[in-house]
Amino acid sequence: MKMNIAYLKPGREKSVNQHHPWIFSGAIEKVKSNPAAGDVVTVVDYQANFLAYGYFNPNSQISIRLLEWDEKIQIDDNWWQSKLKKAIEYRKQFVITPNCNAYRLVFAEADMLPGLIVDQYDDFIVLQALTAGIDKVKTVIANQLNELLHPAGIYERSDMETRTLEGLEQVNGILTGKSPSEHIKITENGYQFLIDIKQGQKTGFYLDQRNNRKIVAEYAKNRDILDCFSYTGGFAVYSTVAGAKSVTRIDSSQSSLNLGTENLNLNLNLSLNPQSKSSCSAICDDVFMALRKYRDSGKKFDMIILDPPKFAQTQARVEKAMRGYKDINLLAIKLLRPGGILATFSCSGGLEMKQFKNVISWASIDAGRETQILQQLSQSLDHPIRAAFPESEYLKGLICQVS
Ligand code: SAH
Repeated sequence: MKMNIAYLKPGREKSVNQHHPWIFSGAIEKVKSNPAAGDVVTVVDYQANFLAYGYFNPNSQISIRLLEWDEKIQIDDNWWQSKLKKAIEYRKQFVITPNCNAYRLVFAEADMLPGLIVDQYDDFIVLQALTAGIDKVKTVIANQLNELLHPAGIYERSDMETRTLEGLEQVNGILTGKSPSEHIKITENGYQFLIDIKQGQKTGFYLDQRNNRKIVAEYAKNRDILDCFSYTGGFAVYSTVAGAKSVTRIDSSQSSLNLGTENLNLNLNLSLNPQSKSSCSAICDDVFMALRKYRDSGKKFDMIILDPPKFAQTQARVEKAMRGYKDINLLAIKLLRPGGILATFSCSGGLEMKQFKNVISWASIDAGRETQILQQLSQSLDHPIRAAFPESEYLKGLICQVS
């Protein structure tokens, strides 16, 4: 049997020994046996001492993603199954309840399964293969998920642009079982949402905000709320049910807003405030523009939620992204009545909490207001943060009160 071996340059074994799962192309001295994209390789130091196993991709800057640090353990079908089982066990312990049947089952590197995302939506599973290594074993993984969880179907949403960095095509289609209907109804913290698995953003829903929706809604009662970047109404549904005086949703996607309206209707019977239906509205617009229009017209709110898409795609773009975050936060702060609540998020992994707080501080000063941070938020439990992989911490949120 041919042995694929990657030799690291002297000194480059350090991060491997600290269990960081990425090896960049610049750290590799040579690779023996010419492995193909996705093949498993043995990683050794410059003196040929064993370090770890990982999968290789000569087309990617992240040339190796590490899987296993124990030399005696083989990376075979059983290995993939044992990692899947562990990830599922963790969700059973901390996430899955009768009130919650939509969650991330596998969060890639953070679950020791680099490049693999698996989300459960009621009895459907959505799989994303981010890398060549996962693309190669995705059928094995799908079969194992079938065996472990017996879903109605497994749908592949590998249609992200980042696949091109791995030399892969975008894929959107059924892997096994039934095709999901246009909308699947899920339950999250007891609220119902319709999810579009085939065409929705990400795999259909922003599962990482589950805890934060609950926390944000605790501030919603009797307030006029502006939910910016609303998507299918996650924050709006929770806030309406919690007794908001009014909820205005803004998003640039009309189809997302439409699904959000359906989601609001689905949950109205739970609402504490019977007037809430008449006071919910949706605006299809660019948030940057919409906030300026409100500023110019003198409109005010008691609470503003800002949950924008990732502004910094890479570390290099953090500085530019900070200007974008400052812009919307400054505008939002100006639109708040005294004592108003700002619930503001950033899902840019490259932007640290400390920098995000600085952005809020600058925005407040420019707006001529004082801001107190009441709560600091992070991603939901089914998106664990792996200590050895700081990149797995990406979602940051602040609940602030503005003077
Ligand atoms: N808060 C949502 C998730 C937001 S995702 C939830 O809880 O489910 C980000 C959303 O921002 C997407 O729906 C996207 O359509 C929208 N979006 C992106 N750029 C925008 C812009 N400039 N103006 C308005 N909406 C935008």
